[in-house]
Amino acid sequence: MTTVGTASAAPGEMAVGRLEVGESRDGGTVGLPVAVINGAKSGKTLYIQAASDGDELNGVGVIQRLVPQLDPSEISGTILIVGIVNYHAFQVAQHRNPIDDRKMNRAYPGDERGTSSERIADVTFKVARGADLILDLHQGSTSQMINEVRVRCGRHHRMHAECLRLAKTFGCGYVLDQKGPDGQLARAGPDAGIPTIDPELGGCVGWDEESIQLGVRGVHNVLRAYGFLDGDVNRDPQTRARGFDQYGSPSGGLVRFKRALGDEVSAGDVLFEITDVFGQLKARVTADHSGIFWRARRLPQVASGEYVCSVGIDIDNY
Ligand SMILES: [Zn+2]
Repeated sequence: MTTVGTASAAPGEMAVGRLEVGESRDGGTVGLPVAVINGAKSGKTLYIQAASDGDELNGVGVIQRLVPQLDPSEISGTILIVGIVNYHAFQVAQHRNPIDDRKMNRAYPGDERGTSSERIADVTFKVARGADLILDLHQGSTSQMINEVRVRCGRHHRMHAECLRLAKTFGCGYVLDQKGPDGQLARAGPDAGIPTIDPELGGCVGWDEESIQLGVRGVHNVLRAYGFLDGDVNRDPQTRARGFDQYGSPSGGLVRFKRALGDEVSAGDVLFEITDVFGQLKARVTADHSGIFWRARRLPQVASGEYVCSVGIDIDNY
């Protein structure tokens, strides 16, 4: 029997339930929706979580489509899923947990006596650390972003090669291979010896079906490559960036992009223009280095110094 919270499944069974992470302001129990898919045959354990950032719903879309496709009688191993991690932020459709105004993905591995986010991180990480592989489904928040997979442990980490392999297996086409900030699950997982990736499934308000389908395909690829399911694995070469150049606006006004997501950019190429309300050009911003147009703000209006877009740099293929 495998149990997460109130979900218990014997081999060949699937169960859903709630994983208690504390109490809400009205004194009621807060339980995250969880699923346990216990394969009929033994094998590895995969941990998947979504909505660590409360406005990032594509991962929830992946899980919602994936789970009905999984038949425990055909699976070797166990799949543990936390469908919504940032419970409080999800309720109000915002990025950060409103209880402590923290970003969940800076709170791992968590603290059982800490703030709300640290406590949720602690409870979910205790489930994740029993797994052999971790997928932390994210997206570029509500910005526009390409579909990519992040490897956050850093190039000198003992788990780096395994994380890169997992990222290639997930196979969104693009990989960001850059050490992430402290507190990310994609840092804490490798530190505990578990290959961990952070698929970033596009960026949108609500659901983007194309990114969701890429995520579903990515999980199936992982399930086949690591022996959970039979079948062929795609291992297409991935385009890797090792960092970002971020561009802010030199002046206030309205942004007009000159590049689209995924475009190759050369140093000196115009990335965007800022115009005033009456259409007059105020500024033109060019790329400092070559790379790939990776991420862009969604709303056109900007103040001086405000974030506009990112270019992935230091590109290769693997
Ligand atoms: Zn995120």
